[in-house]
Parts: sequence; C-alpha cells; structure tokens
Amino acid sequence: MKHPKRLVVVSNRLPFRLIEQDGRIVLQPTDGGLVSALKSYFEKHNDSVFSESIWVGCADFPQKRWEKYIKTPDKEKQLFSVEPIFVDSKLYSLYYNGFSNSVLWPLMHYFITYTVFNQNYFSAYEQVNRIFAEKVLSVLQPDDILWIHDYQLLLMPGMVREKFPDLAIGFFLHIPFPSFEVFRLLQRSWKEKIIQGMLGADLTGFHTHEYVQHFLKSVRMISGYDHQYRTINMGNRIVKAEMFPLGIDYAKFSNAADDEHIINIKNDIRKRFKDKKIIFSVDRLDYTKGVTNRLSGYELFLKSHPEWHGRVVLILVVVPSREIISKYNERRNLIEEQVGHINGMWSTLEWQPIIYKYGHLAFDELCAMYQAADVALITPLRDGMNLVAKEFVASRKGGSGVLILSELAGAANELGEAVLVNPLDIDELASAINRALEMDEDEQRRHMTLMQQRLQLYTVNDWVRDFLAQLDEVKSVQEQRKLKVVSKKAISQMAETFKKSPTRHFFLDYDGTLVPFARKPREAKPASELLTLLRKLAQNENTEVTIISGRNSDILEEWFSEVPVNLVAEHGASMRMLGEKWLHGNAINQSWKPLVRPTFDLFVKRCPGAFVEEKRHTLAWHYRNVDPELGFVRSRELIDNLYHLIRNAQLQVIDGNKVIEVRVAGIDKGTAALKVLRQKPATFVLAIGDDKTDEDMFQALEKIAFTIKIGQGITHAQYVLNGQNEVFTFLENFLN
Ligand code: UDP
Repeated sequence: MKHPKRLVVVSNRLPFRLIEQDGRIVLQPTDGGLVSALKSYFEKHNDSVFSESIWVGCADFPQKRWEKYIKTPDKEKQLFSVEPIFVDSKLYSLYYNGFSNSVLWPLMHYFITYTVFNQNYFSAYEQVNRIFAEKVLSVLQPDDILWIHDYQLLLMPGMVREKFPDLAIGFFLHIPFPSFEVFRLLQRSWKEKIIQGMLGADLTGFHTHEYVQHFLKSVRMISGYDHQYRTINMGNRIVKAEMFPLGIDYAKFSNAADDEHIINIKNDIRKRFKDKKIIFSVDRLDYTKGVTNRLSGYELFLKSHPEWHGRVVLILVVVPSREIISKYNERRNLIEEQVGHINGMWSTLEWQPIIYKYGHLAFDELCAMYQAADVALITPLRDGMNLVAKEFVASRKGGSGVLILSELAGAANELGEAVLVNPLDIDELASAINRALEMDEDEQRRHMTLMQQRLQLYTVNDWVRDFLAQLDEVKSVQEQRKLKVVSKKAISQMAETFKKSPTRHFFLDYDGTLVPFARKPREAKPASELLTLLRKLAQNENTEVTIISGRNSDILEEWFSEVPVNLVAEHGASMRMLGEKWLHGNAINQSWKPLVRPTFDLFVKRCPGAFVEEKRHTLAWHYRNVDPELGFVRSRELIDNLYHLIRNAQLQVIDGNKVIEVRVAGIDKGTAALKVLRQKPATFVLAIGDDKTDEDMFQALEKIAFTIKIGQGITHAQYVLNGQNEVFTFLENFLN
C-alpha cells in the first residue's frame, strides 16, 4: 500500500543536472550521499513509498533551460519531482560562500580563527532561507512531511513552522554541532535565530550522541527550554533531538568486490605497486580533513622507519571543493608544497613515497582503490561523520585491511576497532602507520569483521527509515498531548460527578494557581475572598481540601490556620492534616545544604535582585526581581552548575517559575498527594496546579482524579485552564 502522504525534501543544492538527450532536456541525478540514501530507500521500500516525493533546492542550471525542460517533461522516469530555486548569484555567494562556509562551517568544526563574523553574510543567509521557505510554502500541503537538510538551512524550519503550526517537519544536520562554548561565539541575535529556526522542526537529527548533547545544552542556555529524554519542552510544543548516524549503502560497496570491471582496475593498481604496501587516503579539499597533519605524520613515519623505504606508497587523492574561498585555495597550496617536499626529500630513482592526485574519482576507481589498499588513512581534524571510512570497511570483502581513523570523526563512534588516532598528534600518527603496516592478517580480520557486522546493521536505508519513523512518533506524541482546554461540558461533567460522589477531595497548588505571582514570596498573601471560597469548599459535606505547595510550613500555617484544610509544605517534605500536628520528614538528610549553598550564594552575588530562600528541606534561588534578560542567563548557568554539582547525589534540581530549587529526590507532590489520600480517601478527586512540581501530582493521580493545569505548556494533566484568573470561577462550580 502506498503511503498516503507526500514527502518534500529540501537541501541546498538539487541533486540533479539538466542535460540534453535526443533533442530533449532530461534530469540526470548527480551523486551525493543524500540523494543516493533516499534513492536506495525508495527503490527498496516500494511498499511504503510516499504518494509523491518532491525535492526542493537551488538549481545549478539556468532558468531558461528549466523552462525548456518543463515543456518537454521527462518526469515519469524520476523517483522525485523537482522544484528548483533560482537565487541571484551575488546573494547566493554571500549566503553560501559567506555565512554557510565562512561562518558556520569553520565554527561548527572548531576552526574558530577561520570564522568571519560578517553581518552581511548573515543577512544574506536569512534572506536565502526565506526564499527557500517561500518556495516550499508554495508547494506544501498540510498533510505533507517536510525533511530539511543541513547547515545551510538552519533558519528554515522555523520559517515554515510560522505558517504551518501542525506540519510534520524533520531536520537533519550533517556536520557537527559544537560545544556550547564554541557555538556561543556567534552574535547573540544570530544564535538566537538559529536555535529558534532549528526548533521549528519536530525532530532534529544528528550523527552522534555528543552533537545531540551539545545542541540540547545550547537550546537550554540560549532559549531556556529544558529537555528530558532528548525531548525539549517548548511550552506549547514538544520537539525531539535524536541521534541517527548516517550509514552507507553497504551492499553496493561490498558487491563491488565481485564486479569484474572494478576487479580489473584493482589488479592494475596492485600490479603497479606489486611489492609495496598501499596506504590510501581520499578527502575533499578542506582544512577540516587534516591532510597537512597527516602528511607530517607520514613524513615522521618515513624518518623513523627507514626499513619501509621502497616498500610503501601513500596514494593521496584530494577532491576539489569550494575553491573560491581563500582558505581552501591556501590549503591546496600547503598540501602540494608538502607533497613536493616529502617526495623531494625521500624519493629514489625507483621509488616515490607519495602519489598525489588533485581530482575526483569515479565510483569504480574509488572502489578499486578501497580494495587495492592495505591501509586507509583517514584523519580529519573534525568531521560530522566521514563516509569514506565506512565505505572502505564495506569494500573489504575478504576481511583484510586496516583502517586508521581520527577519533574526531563522527564515524569513530561506530568504528572502535579501527586504529584510532588523535590527528593532531604527529608521533601517534607515525606509529599508527607503522602498527597498521605490521598488523598480522588474523588481527586485521578480527577488527574488520566486527566493524562490517555493525555497519550492516544500520545502513543508509535504516537511517532513512529510522528518521521518518521517529518523526511520525513525535507527531503522534504531540497529538496525544494537545492541550485540552476545559469546556463547559467538561465542567458540568465534573460538577455532576462531584455531586454524586459520597467522598470528595480537592488538591490545590498555591502560587500561580490560587494566587498570582508576586514580586516577593511574602506578598502573595491570600485575600479574604480566597479564604472564604476555600472555607465554603471545605464545608461541602464529606469534602477535604488540601493546599499542596512548595512553601514552607510556617507560612502556610500563618496564612491558613483559620481555614479547615490540610496543608502540604515543601512539595511534601512536611504535612499537617486538619486538626493534627505538623509532621516533618526529619529523617531527611540535610548534609547536602552546606555543599550546595555556596553555589547559590555565588549566583546571588552575580545577579543583583536574586535571593536565596532556605526552607526546611529545600534551597531556592529566586530571580523574579532580576532584570529578565540577566535573570534568564544566570538561571541557565546556575542550573548547569547544579546539574554537575549534584550528579550522583540523591538530589533534584527544579526549574520553577522564576525560581530554581534543589531538594532531596523522592519527595514530590505526587507521593505526598497519595499519602494524604490514604488518610482521607475519596471517590471524587480534583487536582489543580500550574508548574513542573504539579506534574508529579498529575501523574500520580492520573487514574483517579480530574487533573487541571493552569496556563500553557506540555502537561500530564487531563485538562487545561488558560489562566490563574479563571481558577476562582471554576472552583465556584463545586459549592453547594
Ligand atoms: N567520493 C567520491 N569520489 C571521490 C571522493 C569521494 O565519490 O573521489 C565520495 C565518497 O564515496 C563519499 C563522499 O564522496 O561517499 C565523501 O563523504 P564524506 O562523508 O567522507 O566527506 P564529505 O565530503 O561529505 O565531507
């Protein structure tokens, strides 16, 4: 059965050329990781293919040729239909060579000094992202699935989201997401827009666990949204960040070992270097690929291992890329100088230690090289993934061969049996080369087989399927969690159940629920109208009212001693049933407080207006009175500090409404509410609250209560009231 939806894929470049064939203009796919990934997925999964697939991207052909193509369509042969974007070349250059490749690319690969912080670049980047968004909007239908790719289009998911609040949008980043300490170097407004843009997607994919963590931290520090299980809570939406290590078409490389034409090329190469070990290295021209460091390592190897002279050759292929950017051109010159230097220094009449080619290898030549080599030397200084490493492994059908791989390539996470090296450590590189050349065949096979088994388990097909399946899952979770604003019908249903029930119990949070927030905690005192309402509520026959709060017991006692209610303080650490004495969890270990307090005090000093409240079982850092921007930044830093400080301790950090609290784990409003209910059971239970700590209560009472959240936000509660000001009227429905 065909998938009823359409898939719209967006990437910077269209993976097609327009060529003339028999007097017609036809589309010809170009190679590239993404297109072959999707192509092989669609070819192999006919049963689940979408009703239509559309690819949107910049054209590298003139508009006129496109118009001619439309008149002589050739669409029936294609897996995708194509929607080209034509961008003015000057603007394109500022967006592509400028912001994409002179700001984002170097920064995200930790080449900070190569980053050019130029406002014109960013403006062009924004403009082109907007052009992409508009193009996509002109094509989109509400039921489509949109999958946007890579660092050139970070703003685009957010731009589309503005117009299509419910659309399924996926985003995949093919390069590293750097540590927050690096990402924060971007101009404030740029990084805010970038994070906001990325959060427009429902699912954002990265190659490795580290990139996911870095992204989640940047989200928390820059936008303030916290996460749990890689799910980010944005208030009215949840979005997910996940790891999807891009795989390869394993069979394609493995089967190439049986292809006669490729075998012939391989044999020619082996014949040419018949008494030598071949080390093979191939990369795009890019400073991130570490070619000059690699050459230094090779030279040191030659220097320290003269026994290998004449018996080894390094075949170094550098594929032209982004030559218009000066840093790339410079790199080419550096590489060529170094190759010249090494060959000049070590060659003999019979032997040349490096064979260098600046150019592209066709698939057959590349496969033949993978098969002919004894060692693959792949040592990028940073690489989002590195497919060449995986392709080399897949090409070694007999299981021999050694992969030397940089530990700073994303692929190193899956290829732990390779000889892993720090690409900056020249000594390590030299000895790794020697080790690889001397490794016996048994050991080679042992390592290679393990890597091969792993790569076969997560091929490029699995990558596509996994991503699309998880996007589907996020959408259904969002659907389930769609906020349910209390309707009149729901209210009368609740009131009806209330009337019929022989026993009733209300659990009411205090701040943000019964009263609005005040500048200082003490100012949020209950007005006499509220006390009267609570009294009336509690005077209903067989009805219990419990105020369940994060406040300490003293203040609750002071404010509610005259009202017939039960009191739960500090989220459950202390409680007092009506007519009884306060019970404090004295057994709770307090020794953590002096260890955490200095961090709180430090953040009071750093943040004018903030203050610490020490409760019996909790430490709270309030920032309601701080300049909002500063308060926000400091609160994120404090949370980060606390997470590290209390790691492995039985404590928890709560990011409340303008307050950060630390308390002992295991105390929460859910546990407390259940405890109170055991003493005063009821057939009608209703719980209302507004923040994170109330979520524990909603979850614990899920099956037995009507649960209501005040305000926006993802919640476990069954219902939602729009604001605190609606609570009073709502509760009046339960007065006899
Ligand atoms: N490649 C190619 N011909 C070449 C060199 C490389 O077709 O001469 C392909 C290679 O098979 C791989 C891709 O280009 O699939 C390079 O991907 P990788 O992730 O290693 O590096 P990137 O260029 O994306 O940074």
